[in-house]
Amino acid sequence: MSSDRIKIVWIYPDLLSTYGDQGNTIVLERRAQLRGIATETVHLRSDEPVPPDGDVYLLGGGEDRPQILAAQRLRNDGGLHRAVQNGATVFAVCAGYQILGHEFGGEEGQPVPGLGLLDIRSYRGQNRAVGEVVSEVASELNVPRVTGFENHMGATAIGPNARPFSKVLSGVGNGDGQGFEGAYQGRILGTYMHGPALVRNPALADLVLSWALGRELPPLPPSWSERLREERLSAVLPAANGQP
Ligand code: GLN
Repeated sequence: MSSDRIKIVWIYPDLLSTYGDQGNTIVLERRAQLRGIATETVHLRSDEPVPPDGDVYLLGGGEDRPQILAAQRLRNDGGLHRAVQNGATVFAVCAGYQILGHEFGGEEGQPVPGLGLLDIRSYRGQNRAVGEVVSEVASELNVPRVTGFENHMGATAIGPNARPFSKVLSGVGNGDGQGFEGAYQGRILGTYMHGPALVRNPALADLVLSWALGRELPPLPPSWSERLREERLSAVLPAANGQP
């Protein structure tokens, strides 16, 4: 891991890339480059081996069947496990989030084995969760309130080795009755938020970048993406400009 260069691996765009989640790679590239950090991005198809030397691995959302296939291929490949053992950062959305856990629910609700990299367990929920989410991020992560878009049947329970990423203010999130959205463990972070999440929430993008680089980053001037975040906050929580 070098601090003036970052290697981003976008895992399986042919299987996991719903709702524009690829935008997460673009915003990481952009926010790194604005700070003079060179980027290399690998768009890794599901028939290619996972390179174990990435600094940050991104996974997006997907329909049930591509999600099952992606989980099988990642389990067989083993490259993501090696990368995590080497300290890589992982940011995963929805189907990608569920895949990182011990298991998730398939299209008939059958349990499908995940990668076991994040201490979560997902299963088929009662109702599909669709709509905007706003949540308050765990204070130790130092990221202001985040917004996203969710669309999932799965619900997720967090085990003792992982922590909730955020507390839901509006929307469903993990949907297991605990009121949380997403989970993280070390440098692995999963969320149900599409949006894409890192485009809508620049401070979250910077957290992922700082984990991947192993250092704090100088702030950037507020940009259109800050304005986008504020617009979504006040659209979902209109009272007092986003304050509940
Ligand atoms: N197929 C999964 C579910 O419905 C993930 C959906 C998604 O990635 N949007 O829970």
